[in-house]
Amino acid sequence: MQDTFRAGDGITAIDKKMIGRYQVTSAYLLDAAEPILVETGPATSAEAVTRGLERIGVASDGLAHIVVTHIHLDHAGGVGTLAARFPNATIWVHERGARHLADPSRLLSSTARVYGEERMREFFGDVIPAPAARIHVIAEGDTVQLGDRALSVLETPGHASHQVGLVDSWTGAVFTGDALGVHLPDVKVLRPATPPPEFDIELAVDSIERLRARAQTVLLLSHFGPVPDVDRVCALAVERIRRWGEVVREALRATDDIDEIARLLEREGAREYLADSGQPIDLEKYDVLSSIKMNAAGLIRYWKRRAERETEELLHEIEVRPADAQPGGLGDPPGAATGGVA
Ligand SMILES: [Zn+2]
Repeated sequence: MQDTFRAGDGITAIDKKMIGRYQVTSAYLLDAAEPILVETGPATSAEAVTRGLERIGVASDGLAHIVVTHIHLDHAGGVGTLAARFPNATIWVHERGARHLADPSRLLSSTARVYGEERMREFFGDVIPAPAARIHVIAEGDTVQLGDRALSVLETPGHASHQVGLVDSWTGAVFTGDALGVHLPDVKVLRPATPPPEFDIELAVDSIERLRARAQTVLLLSHFGPVPDVDRVCALAVERIRRWGEVVREALRATDDIDEIARLLEREGAREYLADSGQPIDLEKYDVLSSIKMNAAGLIRYWKRRAERETEELLHEIEVRPADAQPGGLGDPPGAATGGVA
């Protein structure tokens, strides 16, 4: 297994070896007048990332920027630790994530609810705050200038509401974060990543299409490495997210029990795993990043939120309709009743 490898022209992938596992979590270093590290990984990966940067020739005063696609701890939990080791690095993050890097307390408590305190510590280590003065926010259409190279920012909500994709000006490669899900190269299986509390199917699909439209060469996944067949993998990611959504929606007609729903999703995941890899499922490998139960919880929450929203809209429509729909009411043009909210 390689600790670092070439992922594109002037792009080196660093295996973050989260909790000692190879080929699960990757960071990237873009070679530029002002070098930038994309993703830090969790605090438990700070050693692996620091050694990777040393190997590439980036000294402690040589890293100009750090950017994270979103603030989940497997992507950004190490920002505080690496900011201390690389004191010249400016930190870039979507504006909705910025305050959680400076004060991770709320992020830690919500992660503990999903993982449990003990597993959270084992996976992510000690998360320390990043210096607020060094954190800069990014949003749709922004550009992070690296001197002779630049990264353009695409907002790609779905997996998380504040996730961004990054387009490299040199190569047209696109850093996707977790927008497409998890694709581990040794087993070549693509699995959606649909965690609570923010996962949204329609936003996720829209974000994948936007990434697909911008990617000219490769997709650079955080889990894990470069994926060259952009169209095929994007189409597959959309298909899988919709399929998993349907499995959970169907299941919710009969039960609210998360374990039961997770079992149904697991069966679908096992079928897809076999289709992609020709092997029986090795759940443990993927469960480190996003367990089937977490994915089930995210999709259940999505459908419940959506049902609530639709109920509210319906109630609103019932409330407003009687007055609006009065035949011959105040200045209603003919046929106005057909042009309403519905
Ligand atoms: Zn992730």
